[in-house]
Amino acid sequence: MILLKNDANRCLLVGDLAVISQPSTRHKCMNATIDIDFVETENQKLVSQMVRDFGAREIKPKMMEWDEEQIFPVDLFHKMGALGLMGVLVPEEYSGAGFGYLEYITALSEISKIDGSIGLSMAAHNSLCSNHLLQFGNGEQKLKYLPKLATGEWIGAWGLTEPNTGSDSGNMKTTAVRDGDHFIINGSKNFITHGRSGNLAVVIVRTGEPGDSKGMSSFLVEKGTPGFSSGKKENKLGMRASETAELIFSDCKVHRSQMLGAEGEGFIQAMKVLDGGRISIAALSLGIAMGAYEAALSYSKERHQFNQPISKFQGIAFKLADMATKIEAAKLLTFRAGEMKDKGLEVRKESAMAKLYASEVAVEVANDCVQIFGGYGYTKDFPAEKYYRDAKLCTIGEGTSEIQKLVISRSILR
Ligand SMILES: Cc1cc2nc3c(=O)[nH]c(=O)nc-3n(C[C@H](O)[C@H](O)[C@H](O)COP(=O)(O)OP(=O)(O)OC[C@H]3O[C@@H](n4cnc5c(N)ncnc54)[C@H](O)[C@@H]3O)c2cc1C
Repeated sequence: MILLKNDANRCLLVGDLAVISQPSTRHKCMNATIDIDFVETENQKLVSQMVRDFGAREIKPKMMEWDEEQIFPVDLFHKMGALGLMGVLVPEEYSGAGFGYLEYITALSEISKIDGSIGLSMAAHNSLCSNHLLQFGNGEQKLKYLPKLATGEWIGAWGLTEPNTGSDSGNMKTTAVRDGDHFIINGSKNFITHGRSGNLAVVIVRTGEPGDSKGMSSFLVEKGTPGFSSGKKENKLGMRASETAELIFSDCKVHRSQMLGAEGEGFIQAMKVLDGGRISIAALSLGIAMGAYEAALSYSKERHQFNQPISKFQGIAFKLADMATKIEAAKLLTFRAGEMKDKGLEVRKESAMAKLYASEVAVEVANDCVQIFGGYGYTKDFPAEKYYRDAKLCTIGEGTSEIQKLVISRSILR
């Protein structure tokens, strides 16, 4: 088993090897608000190794079949739960791993380096559903649901988007109307990760007037609640092993004790959850970019044309140099946002910057990867085409690149 130390310096049982973390030698960059450590901690190294071993054993052999058939591998997520990967940020008192964003980014990027769609599902479960509950749930709600989510026994979903309101989510049409001690929910949510297989969904719905940012509230809705069902499962370009489906509410009655926080706080809560969620999409993007880069680098040394490895051509070598440099820059932005989040600092601008930059880098690097593989990059015999298809989601999910620019510009112009 692996024993990792969390912030409270307690050992956690995570895998198959016993290691006690040592304080690392750190180079620090100081500014007014934050220290950035450029050296990987022992915990990060151990998490990386654990995820790489797990991925080689449990993901690599089956991922192309899942991709081809659009299979969401529920059992894999139960196994990931046993390793602590479904409750990375959840405190130990709720059966989580009790780690911070640095370990979370590390684990998520390593998973995504292997298969972005598993990374996307891990991100939606951890930083949207569980994190919303962790940040805004009361003690009873946390005790009831977090251990199930953190151990991977239950899969979590998070529903904000609707068919006609994506970027403009504050204009949502799904309503919850009070009926004594209950609320009656009507409407639908679309593009929801784990919309079919999720055991629990956090949904943000309208409880007040349209156009009022304080007119929305969030609820916990369990699978099997009468009036709650799933609809169309999307047939996607990439991220095909991550299930994306519609949630349908038809006179769905939920008790007021299922409301998270106070009435009218739902949209504000959702924006705060997305501040952390966007760091996870940056980590997902980083993983895809690293995977594509490493595949391209090794292929460029093996593939010969004109009697030499193609890496000897400056046109290819410079492409690799650009790819590596962009990845390092994306890494810095992502870990900076993660470190700030761990320190409890406001990260709206920083998480949007990390998400914007890392996701665009993932698309550019995956594109260059296909180019370096040439015709073989266009076939399913090599990993390039999958990185290319998966990467594009990162510039769309949890706010498009245009919306990240809106968030960043509002922040710097206020
Ligand atoms: C695979 C996948 C998984 C997802 N998982 C979830 C999930 O678990 N939960 C959830 O709630 N949602 C989820 N989503 C939804 C996702 O967050 C939305 O697709 C995204 O926010 C964009 O919304 P939209 O698709 O309606 O696009 P639109 O909002 O219709 O945008 C269309 C285009 O217009 C641009 N645009 C819109 N407004 C502006 C503006 N003000 N300025 C400039 N340009 C603008 C956009 O950038 C985009 O290019 C998922 C989506 C996908 C594809």
